[in-house]
Amino acid sequence: MLTSLLRRRAVRMHVVVCGAGPIGAMVALLLAAEGHRVTVLGDRHSYADAGYSDVRGISQSVPSADDPPLLIPGAALDALSIELPGVVGKLLLAAGKAGTEVVVRRSLVRALLTEEIERTEGIQLSHGVRAVSLLTGAQRLPGRPHIQGVLTTEGNAVLADLVVDATGRNSQAIKWLSDVGAPRPLDERQEVGNRLFTRYFGSDESVNPSTRWSLHHFDRVLIAMVSAGQGLWSMTLCISDEESDLYRLSGASLWSRAAELYAPRLPQLRGAPLPGVWTTPRIESYYRRFVRSGQPVATGTVSVGDAWGATLPLLGLGPTMGLLHAVMLRDAVRQGDPDGILLRFDSLTENYLIPLHEHITKWEEQLQTAEGNIAQPRPATAEAFETAGLGYSSATLLSGLWSQCTASPSEAFPYTRHGPSLAELVEALSVP
Ligand SMILES: Cc1cc2nc3c(=O)[nH]c(=O)nc-3n(C[C@H](O)[C@H](O)[C@H](O)COP(=O)(O)OP(=O)(O)OC[C@H]3O[C@@H](n4cnc5c(N)ncnc54)[C@H](O)[C@@H]3O)c2cc1C
Repeated sequence: MLTSLLRRRAVRMHVVVCGAGPIGAMVALLLAAEGHRVTVLGDRHSYADAGYSDVRGISQSVPSADDPPLLIPGAALDALSIELPGVVGKLLLAAGKAGTEVVVRRSLVRALLTEEIERTEGIQLSHGVRAVSLLTGAQRLPGRPHIQGVLTTEGNAVLADLVVDATGRNSQAIKWLSDVGAPRPLDERQEVGNRLFTRYFGSDESVNPSTRWSLHHFDRVLIAMVSAGQGLWSMTLCISDEESDLYRLSGASLWSRAAELYAPRLPQLRGAPLPGVWTTPRIESYYRRFVRSGQPVATGTVSVGDAWGATLPLLGLGPTMGLLHAVMLRDAVRQGDPDGILLRFDSLTENYLIPLHEHITKWEEQLQTAEGNIAQPRPATAEAFETAGLGYSSATLLSGLWSQCTASPSEAFPYTRHGPSLAELVEALSVP
């Protein structure tokens, strides 16, 4: 124990984290707690910027595309209370309830984490500074560039022992790596994506569903009802990107017509709809692999959170998967050998995160076709993962994620539920 502690302290790195979203911030805090020096490039997220007056004062503004409600399930709260105890207390306070899970806006999570970063020794947040490209140094592996830092929007070079890409769904890592001559990473993408059409409702929470996050599956339509806090609720209709007839759901009156069709089968959501329908372009699940044939495509850099991979946002698994990924990176860094970090991180990702990701993607494909039953994942327990050599937090998060997947199909995808068919929906929308 003491030996590993000494070894851990002996290899003190400078890590640059690109992106101050929830996962970049978590990586920064976890690595700083290990004694590493961390520079975070990204925006400083404050309560005021997000429209919050303080942790408890929730803004009445409608969540935007950049501010969806995030689901933080019990397993994530457990892991956070061990890893970042200062943050979880405030999260529960802001959510206004101590329960097994909380739903809070992304802007609040970011503001809480920024506050924690600012009070943590060893982390420097370069506010408003973004990474624009990778910098290379002397090669450590033949034929593979070694990343030794990033160039910023201000034209400065930030050198580091490890560059962490936490820039989210729009990560430019593949292009940046190609620009420095790295072989192409694997970019595994779902063939058919989804589109989301969301309306918000302002209402008295006491009359609305007691479950703050629920999913309801009908013939090729997934409906999510989510509490966004302070009496705001969202209802999202999710359809396959291939159903172009349904893009008309972006009009408020047709959206309401569709909602009426499903209403008898859904928990009642009372309240006045706020103007407009929030729509997304095509959203697809994906993940990337930066180790090919046993060798990293480049040394000195890793991608984490949404920059590595993501699933359908409505399932609410993204923040927990990202937290797990951040903890796994910390665990890989703990082994103390900078050159081994990438392979260890990739192997943790491959063995534990990718099977989960693939399972969720299979769900999503079945959602789009509604054919057949969804295969149940193999049962997994925290103990099983601990035996496999994962630390407590990773094991807790992983088993929590798997049980969320196991628990959900019966509630979220009740194929026995007879509701409107897709043809009925299309017909309802086509009536003048
Ligand atoms: C449209 C949408 C809706 C979603 N809805 C939900 C939902 O309802 N519920 C849910 O649980 N999850 C939802 N998610 C998923 C959830 O938001 C993500 O899982 C989570 O935010 C991932 O965090 P992250 O830190 O990896 O990435 P992000 O939150 O995307 O953070 C990345 C950060 O990096 C910054 N950045 C980008 N490029 C650079 C650069 N070059 N240099 C420096 N900084 C950079 C960005 O500005 C951003 O601040 C949604 C995601 C999207 C895209």
